[in-house]
Amino acid sequence: MSHNTEKTRAFFERARRVMPQGVSSNFRVWGEGEDIGVARAEGAYFWDFDDNRYIDYRLGFGPVILGHGHPAVAGRVAEAIKTGTVFAFTHELEVKVAERIVKMCPGVDMVRYANSGAEATMHALRIARSHTGREKIIKFEGQYHGMYDYMLFSTASSPVSAMGHCRSPIPSPTSSGIPRAIHDLVITLPYNDFEVLERTVKQAWGDVAGIIVEPIMGNMASIMPRPGWLEHIRKLCDEYGMVMIMDEVKTGFRIARGGAQEYFGVNADLVTYAKAMGNGFPIAAIGGTKEVKSSVGPERTAHGGTYCGNVAGTAAADATLAIIAQGDALKTIEARGKALMKGLSDILTDADIVHHVLGVPSMFGMAFSVEEPTDYRTWDKSNYRLYEEVMMALIHNGAVPDPDGREPWFLCAALSEKDIEDTLSYFEDAVKQVKG
Ligand code: PMP
Repeated sequence: MSHNTEKTRAFFERARRVMPQGVSSNFRVWGEGEDIGVARAEGAYFWDFDDNRYIDYRLGFGPVILGHGHPAVAGRVAEAIKTGTVFAFTHELEVKVAERIVKMCPGVDMVRYANSGAEATMHALRIARSHTGREKIIKFEGQYHGMYDYMLFSTASSPVSAMGHCRSPIPSPTSSGIPRAIHDLVITLPYNDFEVLERTVKQAWGDVAGIIVEPIMGNMASIMPRPGWLEHIRKLCDEYGMVMIMDEVKTGFRIARGGAQEYFGVNADLVTYAKAMGNGFPIAAIGGTKEVKSSVGPERTAHGGTYCGNVAGTAAADATLAIIAQGDALKTIEARGKALMKGLSDILTDADIVHHVLGVPSMFGMAFSVEEPTDYRTWDKSNYRLYEEVMMALIHNGAVPDPDGREPWFLCAALSEKDIEDTLSYFEDAVKQVKG
């Protein structure tokens, strides 16, 4: 790739003058000289301001499941918004998409909308608290549920060194500005540790409203749940009257048509969806059982928002979910992902880089380590600096996963076999550059 980035650098200088670090989200900061600006995108590719083409494995951190600018989704939205965008009354697309979700997702009887993953999980926490009359929430280290105070503890952006001993973890705030008064409302525990979870629940259940869990660690290299882990959470929630919240913002409509509930055969009481649901349009949903969702309503549990269920978002979801439900999109992604996972692993093995490929073909991660990571603490022992070096070389060659090993590779249905071949050849070259 020619890789002239002169115009893209100039664009970023302009952006930095009016936006802190030139971005709209801290997760997008790459550092001066490395920042990429997007001029346009189509299918599996995007182009920077110097017309360099990149194969996209970030896909906006996961939403773009069908490919950028998918014609059926863009067309459906364009058509729908001609007759209005927001009404403060229920319109048909809201009901139609809710019917689709109820049909596709096991255990989901009812749906309310939100506009982002953070909003969806935030509402789920309130529903759990209201439903149980308890205040604390158990979350897992290295998991991320959105940019708001209640859940910004012990995410993958908090250093492991601040989290204490794994048998008595300390919730570590991810940011300044989080009120001290809410520290006591969260219990953070290592993922996949059956014993610590059970002991904690037995001690604290009287105060615990619910357990929120990403079924695959979508913000920690796609580490998988150990066999029985999600079932263990389900059982404890049933025994101790806590609400199980499955955060499917990354896995929903991506790892299977019915998301992780279908994939793992475990149903939660509340489930949050966002990203793949609208192929990149801002739309999210809080699904749940009739019993728990019945807590929502005036004089009971607050939920709302001006744009909840808006026309553009629900039209995008209507088109996206129809394609996922009826077509081969997820099968195509699985086939491409399997080939890519194997190809990348073979190249690393040939280069003597000890590694593990984690997760599932539609969202997988890689850790350069001898032992397979099973939680944030064990991942932190992997050689993530070498990973980043290899990924930066790959990015310069023209394929873009996130250079940060905590973020999985995301695949879209627009990827061709040739894209996978090209990616593997760019990767082989990247590994040679770094090893050389
Ligand atoms: N939950 C999970 C599992 C996520 O990965 C994210 C975002 N990466 C969120 C919630 C928050 O979603 P949003 O960025 O749309 O607020």
